[in-house]
Amino acid sequence: MKEILPGATIGILGGGQLGRMAAMEARRLGYGVVIYDPDPSCPAAAIADKHWIGGYDDIDKLLDFAAAADVLTYEFENISSLALRKLEEESLLFPSAAVLEICQHRVREKEFLSSRGFPTVSYKVVNRPEELSSKAADLGFPSILKTAQLGYDGKGQVSLSSIEDCFSAWENIGKPAIALLEKRLELLAEFSVIIGRDHKKNVSFFPIPRNFHKKGILDFTIVPSGLGKRLEKEAKEIAFEIAAALDLIGLLAVEFFLTENEDIVVNELAPRPHNSGHFSLDICLTSQFEQLLRIICNLPLGATSARSNGLMRNLLGDLWRADNQPNWAGLLKLPGLKLHLYGKKQPRVGRKMGHYCIVGENMDDILALDTQALQILE
Ligand code: ADP
Ligand code: MG
Repeated sequence: MKEILPGATIGILGGGQLGRMAAMEARRLGYGVVIYDPDPSCPAAAIADKHWIGGYDDIDKLLDFAAAADVLTYEFENISSLALRKLEEESLLFPSAAVLEICQHRVREKEFLSSRGFPTVSYKVVNRPEELSSKAADLGFPSILKTAQLGYDGKGQVSLSSIEDCFSAWENIGKPAIALLEKRLELLAEFSVIIGRDHKKNVSFFPIPRNFHKKGILDFTIVPSGLGKRLEKEAKEIAFEIAAALDLIGLLAVEFFLTENEDIVVNELAPRPHNSGHFSLDICLTSQFEQLLRIICNLPLGATSARSNGLMRNLLGDLWRADNQPNWAGLLKLPGLKLHLYGKKQPRVGRKMGHYCIVGENMDDILALDTQALQILE
């Protein structure tokens, strides 16, 4: 494949914040950008040259969109795989439809990982609600039932602490066609490895963030992770092998759990930029979004080293009080705090409206500034 140079047009399937930030990086590099998203006011619409408004199974519209781009990628995982296969016949698409088919489906993803010997949480596949009680009893409590498809930010999941919880669980996760039952672990830590892999199988890693969640949603990440060289090396090796097994051309985020016994297991995969990698925009030489663009355009991988340390915190709709904007002026007074807002009009509880990244050298100073920022937002 030839290099796709600035001046060409990048097509992004999905116009959420990941698409918006990718589009901004594409623009900085001098590319044109077209996006595809059903929502007329999606975050990337303000950045794109052109926006196709349509469903993710509308093959004709998708093909029309694809014809306007020199290369395609996706920021959204729930695209019909049939449609994606069609796009792939006509256009350059990275990562491939085959990669997305695995990662967009929790059961396929877990079976892929475990069949290749990657460490995962103990789990069972549940094909019918009637199977749930006996499988849950076999696996042991506590556990978590997750829909195979369409879940995100802890949605489509329910905790099971006893047999009684099984009766309503299937309905509580929206009566899925198939579900995954996982042992609920006591976690010592969560972290993620974001790996880029290019057409020539060269790879690059971002510094590893340690991730802190609240109610199933990423709350904040810190870099460096503080988890130690040995553990980080082990996780990178696993991510490298997963990317190779997927024959990945693109970006892959591998979410990890550190268990009570200090073992690491793979939680889930995302073949796209990842919320935990947003720090890279402000502290790395190359951001995760630029790296993705470089890879899909068959350009050399960018250097990913961090110029400093940092903390990234998500800003959820919960911070908006009766439609009043949070105290941005106060926040913008803090030195070293970089604010990113996604241009979403409707704040809702749990909705990711933006994030900030605090850039600094000393982690204690960074954490102190974060505490100050939280007080300003209260
Ligand atoms: P998603 O990020 O797609 O919503 P995840 O499976 O990553 O779904 O779950 C979200 C969060 O819920 C995880 O980051 C973790 O904090 C918690 N969680 C998920 N599965 C488990 C588990 N088996 N044991 C303990 N905590 C879990
Ligand atoms: Mg997750």
